[in-house]
Amino acid sequence: MKEEIKKILNEAKKYLQQQESLFGDEVTLPKSESESEGKIQQVNEKEYGVDPTWVNSKTLDELESKIKNCVKCPLGKTRTNFVFGVGNPKSEIVFIGEAPGAEEDLQGEPFVGRAGQLLNHLLASVGFRRDEVYICNVLKCRPPGNRDPQPSEIEACGPYLVKQLEIIKPKLIVSLGRFPAQMLLKTNATLSSLRGQVYEWRGIKMIITYHPAAVLRNQQWKRPLIEDLRKAREILYQK
Ligand code: SF4
Repeated sequence: MKEEIKKILNEAKKYLQQQESLFGDEVTLPKSESESEGKIQQVNEKEYGVDPTWVNSKTLDELESKIKNCVKCPLGKTRTNFVFGVGNPKSEIVFIGEAPGAEEDLQGEPFVGRAGQLLNHLLASVGFRRDEVYICNVLKCRPPGNRDPQPSEIEACGPYLVKQLEIIKPKLIVSLGRFPAQMLLKTNATLSSLRGQVYEWRGIKMIITYHPAAVLRNQQWKRPLIEDLRKAREILYQK
């Protein structure tokens, strides 16, 4: 046993002498891959206007202040305002849409345009008040021309939504449209195949329904959306 230890120490000594002859006094140990990746990530986040400590945020205000200047994807350059989210930070229910539209981009608040007015109206019709729930989007910046979010944008922005949910810890998530559900459940399934079931994301229940903007384009989806909002209320208050 002693001999083995002696052998290991000799090998180590040889290695250090070799390093010293190559690098002088400054002996550098190889970093683990994840350690190096973490550093790169932090440097990149600073370059993108993001405080790298955002992941440790304890409150929504702290998170917002650390990421509000984000330009991690090209939408950061074309937005008028960063649209974080609105409502009760302790809400038991969170409504998630896909991205800000023109009016939301101008006002810096989600769901304030025509779709937002419809949502407020429908929420009230089933007994929810806008200020008692929390509302946000997958993307925090407006895609030009209200086009669909692109996978690379969802990948860049999605972690902020996850952090919001981690801070709020709601009991129920309502995905307005397919994008939030597809991102959180990691699926490409269509809205019609996702709708009508209760899912779970990290122990939080989730349902998927129509986006109010889709209802504005097609009134036949209004009734199913109201039914889903009623269902949300039932799930939330069931004993
Ligand atoms: S959409 Fe998200 S990732 Fe892209 S710039 Fe805006 S905040 Fe950053």
